[in-house]
Amino acid sequence: MKPSEGDVFYVRACNREFLEKGESGGAVAALLKFALESGSVDAVLGVKKGADIYDAVPVLITDPEEISEISGSLHCGTLLLSRLFSSYLEGAEGLRIAAALKGCDVMGLYELAKRGKLRLENILMLGLNCGGSISPETAREMLAEKFSVDPDSVKKERISKGKFIVETPEGEFSFPMDELEEEGYGRRSNCRRCMLKIPRQADLACGEWGVMGTEATFVEVCSVKGAELLERAKTSGSVETTLPVPKGLEIREKIEQSMLNLAADWRKKDFMALGEGKARLQKLVDETSRCIKCYTCIEVCPPLAGANVSDFTVDAPGKVPPSFAFHTLRYSLVADSCINCGQCEELCPMDIPNALFMHSFAVELQELYGYRAGEDLSVPKVAPMEVFLREKEQGKEPEKSGKW
Ligand SMILES: Cc1cc2nc3c(=O)[nH]c(=O)nc-3n(C[C@H](O)[C@H](O)[C@H](O)COP(=O)(O)OP(=O)(O)OC[C@H]3O[C@@H](n4cnc5c(N)ncnc54)[C@H](O)[C@@H]3O)c2cc1C
Ligand code: SF4
Ligand code: SF4
Repeated sequence: MKPSEGDVFYVRACNREFLEKGESGGAVAALLKFALESGSVDAVLGVKKGADIYDAVPVLITDPEEISEISGSLHCGTLLLSRLFSSYLEGAEGLRIAAALKGCDVMGLYELAKRGKLRLENILMLGLNCGGSISPETAREMLAEKFSVDPDSVKKERISKGKFIVETPEGEFSFPMDELEEEGYGRRSNCRRCMLKIPRQADLACGEWGVMGTEATFVEVCSVKGAELLERAKTSGSVETTLPVPKGLEIREKIEQSMLNLAADWRKKDFMALGEGKARLQKLVDETSRCIKCYTCIEVCPPLAGANVSDFTVDAPGKVPPSFAFHTLRYSLVADSCINCGQCEELCPMDIPNALFMHSFAVELQELYGYRAGEDLSVPKVAPMEVFLREKEQGKEPEKSGKW
C-alpha cells in the first residue's frame, strides 16, 4: 500500500545494525540514512551518546555510514535541537537537513520559522513520540538514592510500560515512573506538563506506542513529504512496512489519552502550588532574586532567537541581582509564544524555576487568545504582549494583523 497523509504503519529497518541498535524497529536511523544517501538532504542532525548515558551530544552527519552512531534513544539527555538550526546551521538556509525531533524540538522550529529565523521547507522532520526526558543530575541522584545503583555503572537505560529501567553489570533494576515522580525524581517538570506526545506537525511521527507482536517502529504519516520519503525508502529496500494490528491502534490511542490526562493533572498541581495573586507575585520575586543575569534563559529560548541581550537592559551595567523588571520583560515577550521546552529552567545556574513561571503565564494567555504556540505556522491574533499592553494604555484597539 502506497503511504499517504494520515496512514499508520509498523516500519522495520532492513539493515540489521539499525534494527539491533535502534530503540524500536530502527526505522528512524534507516529513513535518515536513506534521506542522506538518496540526496534528499545534505546532512542529518542527530543525537549520540557522549561520555556516558547522561551525555547527549548533537552531531551533524554528512556521511551515511556514520548514521548508526545515533541509533537508540537517550532519555537522560535534555537537549533542544531547534536553536541549533538558527544559531549554528544558518537556519537551514543553504543546507537541506533531516533530523529526528521530539515535540518541543518541532514546536521550537515552528516558532523560529514564524520569526524568519529558519527555512522550514529545507528541514525533513522525523518526529519522535515523547513521554519525557530526565535531567542528567536528577537521573544520577535517583539512581544512587532510590535504585542504590552506582550511576557510572549504568550501561543502558530505557522507559517501558511506565517504568524507568537500567542495565548494570549486576543486572537490571527498575521502578515505576509515577512512584519516582511522587518522590520528586523522574521526568523534568516541564515534560510532566507537556501535552505534545505525538508530534503530528512533523513529516512523520515515530514511536513505540501501539507496536504489538513484532519488533518495529510505529510510524504515522503526517505530510506529503513524509509519505514520499517512506515510499521511496521502502522501494529502495531500506525499510519494510506492515499494517498495525487493530489492538495496537486501540492501545496507542489509550496511551496517548492517558498521557495527556496525566499532563493536565501535573499542570493543575504545579500551577496551584504557585499560589494566586500577590502570593504568586511574591514567590516570583523571591525566586528570581537569586538571578546572576547570565542571560542563559534568553540565549536558549526559541521565541527569543534574534533578541539581543541589550534589549534587556533595565538596570545599570553589572547590577546583580537585576531588578524584577528584567524578568517581567522576558515574561511579557515570551509568554504568548512559550512552548514549554524547559531549557530556561534546565540551564539556569541558579536553579530558578523559570519554565514553570513562564508556562503558567503561557497557558493562561494561550487559552485567552485561543492560540497554541508551536502547533503550526499561525501567529496570535493579538501581537506580542508588550505591544498589546502599550496600545491598550493608549486606548487603541489591539492590532489584529498578526505582525510580530
Ligand atoms: C527522550 C525521548 C522520549 C521518548 N518517549 C517515548 C514514549 O514515551 N513513547 C514512544 O512511543 N516513543 C518514545 N520515544 C521515541 C522512541 O524512543 C524511539 O525514538 C522511536 O520509537 C523510534 O525508534 P527507532 O528504533 O526507529 O529509532 P532509532 O533508529 O533508534 O533512532 C533514534 C533517533 O533518536 C534520536 N535521539 C536519541 N535521543 C534523543 C534525544 N534525547 N533527543 C532528540 N533525539 C534523540 C537519534 O538522533 C536518532 O535519530 C522517545 C524518544 C526520546 C528521545
Ligand atoms: S517537553 Fe515534551 S516533547 Fe520535549 S522532551 Fe519533554 S515531554 Fe518530550
Ligand atoms: S538563566 Fe537564571 S541566572 Fe541566568 S539570567 Fe536567566 S534567571 Fe538569571
